[in-house]
Formats: sequence, structure tokens, C-alpha cells
Amino acid sequence: MTAPLPYVGRFAPSPSGPLHLGSVVAALASYLDARSRAGRWLVRIEDIDTPRTVAGAEATILRQLEALGMRADGPIWRQSSEARQQRYRELFRRWRDQGQVYGCACTRRELQQVPVNASGERPYPGTCRNGLPYGRQARSWRLRVPDDRVVRFHDRWAGPQHQHVALEVGDFVVRRADGLFAYQLAVVADDVDQGITDIVRGADLLSSTARQFVLWDLLQASRPRVMHVPLICTDDGRKLSKQNGAPAIDETRPVSTLMAAWQALGFAAMDVASVSDFHGQAMIRWQQRFGDGHEAGHSDP
Ligand code: GLU
Repeated sequence: MTAPLPYVGRFAPSPSGPLHLGSVVAALASYLDARSRAGRWLVRIEDIDTPRTVAGAEATILRQLEALGMRADGPIWRQSSEARQQRYRELFRRWRDQGQVYGCACTRRELQQVPVNASGERPYPGTCRNGLPYGRQARSWRLRVPDDRVVRFHDRWAGPQHQHVALEVGDFVVRRADGLFAYQLAVVADDVDQGITDIVRGADLLSSTARQFVLWDLLQASRPRVMHVPLICTDDGRKLSKQNGAPAIDETRPVSTLMAAWQALGFAAMDVASVSDFHGQAMIRWQQRFGDGHEAGHSDP
């Protein structure tokens, strides 16, 4: 029997604005899970989508995490760095040369014709899978998803999951029409290269997990355990986000922010004197609730 890998978790914010309460919930859950396993906790700045990067947001996020008592155990990775871009290029070229990735000429408008399915996706109809239509040029690049692939996994919060990626999502974009690498490619390349064993993040990414596992499998990497924690919603039921005007957290009141995030995760309020007191108590409770989840199956039976 091989020994289990030592725990490595991460928080991967996009620097499109300061942290709001919803992002603190994801940060806190990933931090507590790592700490309660005596694991490492990394911070990665997901600035792959350069048009959405806001100047100064990264510095603000790092300062906010510091104020909340969450410190990364290793150097901060940035997706925009030359080293990472080189790695994405290398993977992209390898997959393209092997025929795993193909050029797609379809425009956004053409793809809007496909109806949205029960999973909230417009599955790619495969138009360019066997070659570009005559006279058309590649705009984006898609991964050829194996036709028979039902991805099954256990989510430590949401329970058993499965997705027939080819039918429900179809061949998905790994390089966008503007030339940028897609989030799905970058996030998997980074998680694999950083040796991430545990992904704890917001529930909005639960539906991306199966397609990410297709990439983990392609890289022959051992899939991580996953946990998708609840999102904070606005009064009209939308995910609280920078786009819909979520306020930045108040850095002068870190304990109240941590407590609000803690309660959003379904825990009872605690009487705490300081940020470190909060983390000490929260870690014990987290461990009591999720400690056994560590061994929850995450394989594809
Ligand atoms: N960068 C993504 C976000 O800010 C999170 C990606 C992930 O945790 O996999 O929503």
C-alpha cells in the first residue's frame, strides 16, 4: 500500500477586485481544512483572464488575507508569470500535436443557437470536431472529450456526483478566441504542478470539476479530493460576486468577518477574543465535522 500524499490545499482568487464575504468563505474553508490536516495551504493568483484583472487587486487580497490571519505556506504563484504561461503553451502544443485538442471556427453567436440543457450548459455540438468547415479558420481550441466518459467523484460537501462530460458539456475550450488559455487548462496545470491533494472552493465550480478531472486523467495525475462549499447569495438569489457589487470586507473588523464566513458555512457563532483565537477554535470544530471526510472516496469507480 502506498502512503497517502501529504495534504496540500490552496486558495485561488482572481484579482478582479478585493475579497468580499463570499470569497472569504472559500478562503476560510480551504484554510481550515488544510490546517486541520496539518497540511500546507497555498495561495495562487488566478490572473489568467488579463482583461478582468484590476490593478492593485492582488495587493489588496493579500493584505486582506493577512488581516484575517491566513498566511500562505509557500511562494505565491501567478498565472500570468512567464513560467506558467510557458507551461500552458507546452501542454497546449502537446495536446494539439497529439490531436487531443482541435481548432474550432464557431463564433459565440453560432454557439448561442444551442439550447441550454438541464446542467445549465450549451453542449458543444461538435461542429469542428472532424475538421474546420470549408473556408473557415480556427478561433478557439477545444479538447476532444472521450465520448463514453462519465466522470464520477465524491464531493465532501455535496456528496456523490457524476457528469457525462461529452453529452452534457461537449468538447470544451482550452484556448480562447482571444489567444488566452482558458481557466480549465490553467487551473488543472497549476493544481497538478503544485501537487494539490485537496481542492476546497465555492459551489459555483462544482459543475467544472468533471471537465477538470478529464484533464487530470489526461495528465495521468492522481485526482485530488474536492469539497465545494456554499456560496453567499444576494437577496435575489444570485451568487455574491464582484460583478454584482459585493462590498469588500471591512479589514478593520477581521473577527466579525471571519465569524460571518464561519456562520455562512453552517457553524454556530463562537465567543472569540482575537483572530488567532478564532482560528484555534474553528480548526477544532472543523476537524470534528469534516475530519473523517479525508478518506471519502474521490476515485472514478
Ligand atoms: N479563480 C477562481 C475564482 O476566483 C477560483 C478557481 C478555483 O478555486 O479553482 O472564482
